[in-house]
Amino acid sequence: MMMNFRFGTAINCIDGRTQEVVIDHMKQKYNIDGVDMVTFPGADGIFSSEDHSEAIAPIRRAVSISIEKHGSQIIAVVGHYDCAGNPGDREHHYIHLLRAMHEVSSWNLHAQVIGLYVNDKRQIEEVKKL
Ligand SMILES: [Zn+2]
Repeated sequence: MMMNFRFGTAINCIDGRTQEVVIDHMKQKYNIDGVDMVTFPGADGIFSSEDHSEAIAPIRRAVSISIEKHGSQIIAVVGHYDCAGNPGDREHHYIHLLRAMHEVSSWNLHAQVIGLYVNDKRQIEEVKKL
């Protein structure tokens, strides 16, 4: 482990349009060198769906490793425009992201939890907690 490398963590969709923009945003705004990317199709939606509750356990495990072994102090939950795994408009994703942020915060991993929405222009919108 490189102690001087500052890790962040993202729970993101598998979608190839969302990886680099999220990494770039987190590096610029949160003073980190790289992002441990935990991916699942339509990741922001799994916290709002009974059907996908079994998917949460491996995601939580991966995030825990990133926090505990890599010393990450920030977890981003990501939703995005035109998501095949979690179809819906911007408002739909904002609702899911707020729920996801609440759930991930409840894991008590001693990291800041943020929500990011990648919009139709592939720009990052920060989702504010209610
Ligand atoms: Zn997606």
